[in-house]
Amino acid sequence: MDDIPASSIPASSITPAGFSDLVDPSRIQALVAELAASPLGIAPILSAAELTPLSADSYDYSPLLVPLLEGKRAQLAVRADRVEQVLAVAGACARHRVPLTVRGAGSGNYGQCVPLAGGLVLDLTGLNRLRSVDPASGVAEAEPGCVLADLDGLLAPHGRALRLAPSTYRTATLGGFIAGGSGGLGSLRWGFLRDPGHLLGLEVVTLEAEPRLLRLDAAASAPLNHAYGTNGILTALRLATTETVAWQQLVVGFDGWEAALEAARELPATALLLNALCLLEAPVAVRMPWPSGCPAAGPGEHRLLLHAAPDTMEVLPGWLAARGGQLRWQGPPAEAGTPKGARGRTLPLWELTWNHTTLHWRARAQDWTYLQLLLPRPEAPLLEAVRRRWGADVLWHLEGVRQQGTPRLVALPLLRWQGPQALADLIAQCQDLGAVLFNPHVVTVEDGGLGVVDADQVAAKAAYDPAGLMNPGKLRGWQGP
Ligand SMILES: Cc1cc2nc3c(=O)[nH]c(=O)nc-3n(C[C@H](O)[C@H](O)[C@H](O)COP(=O)(O)OP(=O)(O)OC[C@H]3O[C@@H](n4cnc5c(N)ncnc54)[C@H](O)[C@@H]3O)c2cc1C
Repeated sequence: MDDIPASSIPASSITPAGFSDLVDPSRIQALVAELAASPLGIAPILSAAELTPLSADSYDYSPLLVPLLEGKRAQLAVRADRVEQVLAVAGACARHRVPLTVRGAGSGNYGQCVPLAGGLVLDLTGLNRLRSVDPASGVAEAEPGCVLADLDGLLAPHGRALRLAPSTYRTATLGGFIAGGSGGLGSLRWGFLRDPGHLLGLEVVTLEAEPRLLRLDAAASAPLNHAYGTNGILTALRLATTETVAWQQLVVGFDGWEAALEAARELPATALLLNALCLLEAPVAVRMPWPSGCPAAGPGEHRLLLHAAPDTMEVLPGWLAARGGQLRWQGPPAEAGTPKGARGRTLPLWELTWNHTTLHWRARAQDWTYLQLLLPRPEAPLLEAVRRRWGADVLWHLEGVRQQGTPRLVALPLLRWQGPQALADLIAQCQDLGAVLFNPHVVTVEDGGLGVVDADQVAAKAAYDPAGLMNPGKLRGWQGP
């Protein structure tokens, strides 16, 4: 179906302002009573101490989202580890007209699993089994609560690996990545999650008085991919996987920015097999916590971070040296099961890339935020124009991706926060110079993407959540039952 221009949607359906009212306590009590009486072992969570963290994600990277979202809290939560429990919770929420917001690890950046209208938060981290791996095709079916690194650990004995993962690989869940993420590690080879061929099917629970458990093929699954859990509860996902490769972690230093940028542009056009490419401007590189054994970046040293296949090592160091790049460090593949939260000695290189760059920078400078841009080609004119206007208040962090089959660079620049007008001015400048914005300072699916309503996502919501109870306020195209 065709996209509907964002301008045709009434402004009143865009803001979460109308979601300050919580669900009437009598309906919550009736729901709690029904769930507590269920023979399926469902334990409603009602304590504020538990509900507060279960209602939050990593939206604090955005100074615009903080005032909008802080204080938004679920009225109850449930942890489910079996599909029968999900069916029971969905049916009860529909019958009592209580909003339901699904949650994985809660690492999203746009308040994706913050319940704007209160109601129930459904934590699916316990629904986490790898159901099958097809030995011939490598197609895997897994439950949404699987932590991505753990899932890779289960795929490895089959010689298979995930194609794509966010830099939150050690904490994020599969369901949250498909419903809320976009790409990350592997995007250099495999593009983005919504590209046809990654998500092959879904098992979905509908939000109806008599919930249905549906199995959708790849085409029918597409509208639920990156819909922030607004149009169905994902209870299993079928994915294409890739061969395992012992990705070498490489850190390359450059004295000149132009040479570093040129290498980042040219590398994806070689026959060298790479899975990730990240370029950090010198002032960013100097503040990163490098893995043990990797020397800290010197002043003025720009750094290129790579995941490279072992067979590239015969050619890559010489190729880089010819372009002014010096190999500073080579590490073996980081263990998929590296303990969560471990820092220093076990820090995997990927935890300096994508939004982890922002995380490390903000750990020292909380008055900074970020943007997400697909850069035009050539990139240098935009990068230079922004530098001329904003000086050291905008710092460049680039990632290599494949966009509709073509190697491109995206930017996650770090910005000193100077208020909403300065942010709007910077966005306008970048758009005027040809960048495509993926805005991390908004709460709806559409505004975080290309700004247009996807009619298929809305149609799926009408079919699977006809009362509009799922994660209300996040799908701008939904205008009510
Ligand atoms: C430091 C940092 C780095 C990051 N790097 C990346 C990156 O490289 N690439 C990237 O894409 N993202 C990135 N993110 C964002 C986020 O970590 C990922 O998108 C991650 O995959 C989300 O998974 P989660 O389990 O935390 O999902 P959650 O935050 O729990 O949920 C995300 C969305 O999915 C919905 N959802 C979750 N489970 C289900 C389900 N079973 N059914 C229906 N809906 C569901 C939720 O309602 C919510 O709308 C980063 C975030 C941080 C803080």
